Amino acid sequence: MIDNTVSLDSNFRTIEPYTAGEQPDYPDMIKLNTNENPYPPSPKVLEAGSVFDSKSLRLYPSVDASKLRRAIASYYGFEPGRVFVGVGSDDVLAIIFQTCFNSGRPVLFPQITYSFYEVWADLYRIKYKAIPLKADFTIDPKDYTGVENGGIVIANPNAPTSVAMPAEDICSIIEANPGSIVVIDEAYVDFGGESVMPYLDKYRNLIVVRTYSKSRSLAGLRIGFAIASERIISEMENVKNSINSYPMNRPSIEMGTASLEDEAYFRDKVDRIIKTRTVLTEGLEKLGFKVLPSSTNFVFATHPKVKAAYIFEELKKYHIYVRHFRKDLIDDYLRITVGTDQQISVLLEKLESIINIE
Ligand SMILES: *Cc1c(COP(=O)(O)O)cnc(C)c1O
Repeated sequence: MIDNTVSLDSNFRTIEPYTAGEQPDYPDMIKLNTNENPYPPSPKVLEAGSVFDSKSLRLYPSVDASKLRRAIASYYGFEPGRVFVGVGSDDVLAIIFQTCFNSGRPVLFPQITYSFYEVWADLYRIKYKAIPLKADFTIDPKDYTGVENGGIVIANPNAPTSVAMPAEDICSIIEANPGSIVVIDEAYVDFGGESVMPYLDKYRNLIVVRTYSKSRSLAGLRIGFAIASERIISEMENVKNSINSYPMNRPSIEMGTASLEDEAYFRDKVDRIIKTRTVLTEGLEKLGFKVLPSSTNFVFATHPKVKAAYIFEELKKYHIYVRHFRKDLIDDYLRITVGTDQQISVLLEKLESIINIE
């Protein structure tokens, strides 16, 4: 006999999900809340989109996004067998959590970091330990050595702090943990900070993760990738092929490949954002904000007199969106994406009036 009094509740995996930044849709809005790039993708990407043969959508795409995988491999100087391509780096990281953190020992990551790490650990029932940052929001490499663990995940530069860690410090963590997989999420590294990609041949336990969403202006296309040893990549492929054989769609493969063929455009837009970041930082400092040293396309700032939550709400009235996290230690900070010079000048003007009225 089956028990008809059993409630449906027992069937669900209930989970506290990651909350992405708002996606409002006002024609006049200034959207500085999800670290998107304010510039359009390269004209080569647009061209690849316009010549794309839509009739080919009848067919499944390549299982391993082969064309894009080879293009990424050659761009960075690795064999294709060392590259894993996914639907944004969120997909790549989720596959890494499922593939690489199965020892039963806790995975380590900073207490203040990309909050998705905690969500995946919960979702996949992986034990973890969140390690506090130092008072200045830097990561102390010593906190990751001599600690029993089943893997380490560090965003470098870190988010939402924008602060980078020297490659040398990351190497000391990798060397101290030869039995663990060390994942370095380099979502923002094109805007500053040192990549550990040059150490991939030296360390077989290292995975470097990158995304097209920020520096390549392609958040809407959903492309991310990982580079690691062939062993790690083939284990990831096995997990991915146990979930979805064809996650990368045909247009993404074509347009993503084209993005790598326009180095001049890529450099120009990254340089421009770095210059605007200086304008934004100096403007905020002039208004009394304390701004952490940023190596990313956003800044993390706090005002000694005016509450971040208040500024956040006031900016929304002007349809200016920044990010505010209601979270211990950082609830008096705002994360502001570097937009165009024009957007940043409007933002600074409105901030000045908000701060002076308060
Ligand atoms: C934006 C971001 C990602 C995810 O980017 P995708 O759009 O999924 O490629 C991953 N890690 C960090 C730290 C990020 O800020």
